Amino acid sequence: MKIRDFLKRESPCFSFEFFPPKEEAGFQSLFETVKLLKQLDPTFVSVTYGAGGSTRRKTIDLVTRIKHSLGVESMAHLTCVAASRQEVQQVLEELVANRMENVLALRGDPPKGQAAFLPDPRYANELVHFIRSHYDLCIGVASYPEKHPECASLEQDLINLKRKVDAGADFLITQLFFDNRDFFSFVERARKAGINLPIIPGIMPILSVPQIKRFTEMCGAKIPGELLQRIESVQNDPAEVERCGVEYATVQCHELLEERAPGIHFYTLNRSKATWEIFKNLKS
Ligand code: FAD
Repeated sequence: MKIRDFLKRESPCFSFEFFPPKEEAGFQSLFETVKLLKQLDPTFVSVTYGAGGSTRRKTIDLVTRIKHSLGVESMAHLTCVAASRQEVQQVLEELVANRMENVLALRGDPPKGQAAFLPDPRYANELVHFIRSHYDLCIGVASYPEKHPECASLEQDLINLKRKVDAGADFLITQLFFDNRDFFSFVERARKAGINLPIIPGIMPILSVPQIKRFTEMCGAKIPGELLQRIESVQNDPAEVERCGVEYATVQCHELLEERAPGIHFYTLNRSKATWEIFKNLKS
């Protein structure tokens, strides 16, 4: 089923993002995780794509198996950076042949040591345009409440986001953030800019202090001072860090849903325990 149709329903849309495991053993545990999540009736599961095509085979196989063997709707991420139009086209052909209905269209970041952007498609809006012109797929795109780190201003980033919407995107998923005010003000600015698509907030429960510092540095999201203090004060106790992370994300999700966010997209980092707990709390 197309995600845009799920988003027309009254009930919130809950999704879980996984990355393709490096080792074979990781696949079985990922399937077990998805089976477990299925008991709580998630809307869909998404699988990341290594920019430059490094996980191409695994991403396609995983989304196909999750949808057809486990019976959970799924969505492949697809990046166009460092890829030719032909390579992108091959992935899309395969997704369609495997009866996939959804794709998250991304530019991606060039893999290490591979600085060059190929000329076409260069930005995600061009990828969206290409997919919309040739395939009957539901298209999600990335958005950035605190702006994309490469972009000079919030205003310019919104102009660039609008290009993806105008090219034919169906819904938006945000980068992770920890202060809901950033999300609410982003949605308000997007609506003023004429972006009326569903905007699903992306939430990453904190599991480790060094890890979340690394992620936020990379993606330009900030950790509120009070939250940082709280997790740093227990950073030598991993279970307590995770407990704080689950507690904070649960409160964050409750407020987002109360304010009528269309759902929650969980960045699971393939560690399902924390997201399972938050999801269970929300469902009850
Ligand atoms: P774009 O929308 O193309 O934007 C990139 C930058 O260029 C922005 O600064 C934007 O303001 C600017 N820009 C956009 N269009 C134009 C234009 N026409 N002219 C000039 N400037 C422009 N990465 C992966 O490698 N694999 C994944 O699976 C993956 N999944 C993700 C899932 C989500 C929900 C999110 C939020 C991010 C994900 N990423 C993933 C990271 C993403 O690839 C990076 O953030 C990347 O730097 C930008 O991708 P984009 O699709 O947002 O790019």
